[in-house]
Amino acid sequence: MTSKMDVYAPCPCGSGKKVKFCCQAVLGEMDKVARLHETKQSAQALSVLERLAEKHPEAPIVFITRAQLLMEERRFDEAASTIRGFLKDNPDSSHGIGLLAYARFMDVGFQEAKPDIHRAFQICPQSSPDVIGSLASQIADDVFYSSSMSAREHLGLALRLTQDQEERQALFQELMRVDGSAEIPFPLRGVHSLEELDAPEGTEKDIKTATRLSALGCWEIAAKLFDKLNEKMPDNWALWKNIGLCRAWDANNSGAAEALRKASELAPSHEVAVECETIAQLLELSDVEGQMPVKAARYKLTSTSMTLSKLDDCDRAVRLPATKDQADANPKVVGRYLVLDFPAPPDDEEVRDDNVPTVQAEVSVFDLNTDDGAVGILSVIGSDGDARNEAMAVVEEDLKDLITNPEDDENHESDAPLYSESLVRSVLNELTQSQERKYYGTRLDLVQRREIAKQEGRDFVENKWCNTKLNRLGGKTPLEAANDPELKVKRAAALHVLESISDVAMLYSDGTELRKTLNIDEEAAYPVTEDTELNSLSVLESHRMPISELNDEQLGHIVHRALLIRHVPFAYKVLTEVSKRGVDRIQGIDTSMFQWTIAQVCRELGHHDEALKWLKEGRDEVEKGDNFEEKFQWAMREFQFRIENRSDPALPELIDHLWNFYGTKMPGIRDALEPALKELGIAIPGETASGLVLPDGSGAPAAAAAAPGEGDSKLWLPGQ
Ligand SMILES: [Zn+2]
Repeated sequence: MTSKMDVYAPCPCGSGKKVKFCCQAVLGEMDKVARLHETKQSAQALSVLERLAEKHPEAPIVFITRAQLLMEERRFDEAASTIRGFLKDNPDSSHGIGLLAYARFMDVGFQEAKPDIHRAFQICPQSSPDVIGSLASQIADDVFYSSSMSAREHLGLALRLTQDQEERQALFQELMRVDGSAEIPFPLRGVHSLEELDAPEGTEKDIKTATRLSALGCWEIAAKLFDKLNEKMPDNWALWKNIGLCRAWDANNSGAAEALRKASELAPSHEVAVECETIAQLLELSDVEGQMPVKAARYKLTSTSMTLSKLDDCDRAVRLPATKDQADANPKVVGRYLVLDFPAPPDDEEVRDDNVPTVQAEVSVFDLNTDDGAVGILSVIGSDGDARNEAMAVVEEDLKDLITNPEDDENHESDAPLYSESLVRSVLNELTQSQERKYYGTRLDLVQRREIAKQEGRDFVENKWCNTKLNRLGGKTPLEAANDPELKVKRAAALHVLESISDVAMLYSDGTELRKTLNIDEEAAYPVTEDTELNSLSVLESHRMPISELNDEQLGHIVHRALLIRHVPFAYKVLTEVSKRGVDRIQGIDTSMFQWTIAQVCRELGHHDEALKWLKEGRDEVEKGDNFEEKFQWAMREFQFRIENRSDPALPELIDHLWNFYGTKMPGIRDALEPALKELGIAIPGETASGLVLPDGSGAPAAAAAAPGEGDSKLWLPGQ
């Protein structure tokens, strides 16, 4: 917005016309608006714009700017009517159409704003790619919990459109995060591609249009077009699959499940049928209704420091170790606690069935100044129900002098769900009727806790799951369904669903045994040739690949994919193949990184000794060289693993080395080690020095030890 601009340049309103023939008359006044906006005088800016709108109804920039200012003020409804008014006279303004879609989405949400959104997706990608890209990424955020496939596809769309490099980078990261998110069952993650259709005469044009609309993100319309083709190409599994995918990308889970079931019934092979059925079953599960909502009760605080010291003294609350993320978060998290159903017994009390407390809710304390004078916010987060209510009562009682709004119902019961319980946990709830999270503190080592998890996982699968009536098996239990030939595909899919929603339960149970019990055939290998487009395979397809038959280049490719998707048993299979062939043969994989990654994968699988073997190899390797930092890093890695078993005979020597060798050379090492050792009741070798934090953020053993299930699952990433 400047009056000194070239009058033959394109007008900043986005009309595509030159300034001289568009908004020239008002550009001087617009400078004034810009200054008012810069100095945060939005009300004045808006009133100047109102005046201008009456005087110069022909200048698009007045309306566009007004709508943008209103959106900044979060007055989306008014912004939408401003643009609508403008579009009446300028129906072809693609800038206006894009902004309208944005305002409508912010105002009424994805489902209701869809006609405006899809109009914008069709008209604006070329003229306003960034507006449309940003809209698509907002939608991805919005639908993440209800429809992960839709979230991923909207992110992909945003990435295709967005021009800004920094923004692209952020979107790419987000896409990687979604693909590796444990919140999403793995068969739904990664790419899913439309099937190529054999077009009978007279259908080419419709197929082309539907495919083009799908590429533009208009999945509802694309699905309808594909659906119409059913008249001309009946009983076509690929067509049904495309309808299913488009509906899933449109966040229509139940419609997608229905279409994918049809595809499954008509599928050309058992494996294709199973994959379609698996996705259908998972999409039905992810319909939010009936899930246990996770709620956050928020309380305003008069002092955060006193809140922390009260909670520290409360015997039902356990403080969690601080992480770097919390300090960087906005608002800043100053303390995090678990509220237990009874006080945790002392660390030296032996673990029995009746003395392990259960976590009722999680409490976070934020540093945040509110308009009404509060200096902090406390939230109690947990699955809606008695346990969280009890935790809230504990907090309210303990902090009664510090909370400014304890009786304010707005702050708890009527609060809208923060998000729905993750699919993983909600399905387990369905099956186990409980979602207890045991708190062992430091009474058990992580290796022992993993053993318990292993046992519980086995019990759960063999005794509970196998005997639970499942809708997806027509109301039969997996055992009852085992010999029903009609349910062959459905029970194979049900096993995939179990594998994907219950990593913990399945990680350790023997899949081969279970397959035998349930009479599920081994799936045929996915045929791979030199020309196979590995990038377009779905996760389930890539899991069926005959790993040992891949060439080195293909194997390297699959390694990166396996690390991105983070399905542990598959990653183990792939990495083991790499180690068989020799890491040097696989391009793009660094030996040191490989050793560290496979060690972590082994740990997650509960192969503790194998993990230590890889760690030792990695450490021996760097010890031969003279890179101080690398040596230290590997020593810390080994420490991180060995500390999981406090009776590990190699631990004392390692701690001594860290303390007395690195501790004297690097400031801060001892300060970082000391609390971790203290917390685990391990003797400290020498005197303390002062310093800061560990250079390697992952080297927070205390966090890993004290927060089971959090610290120990999310460490490995490609390129980390
Ligand atoms: Zn203009």
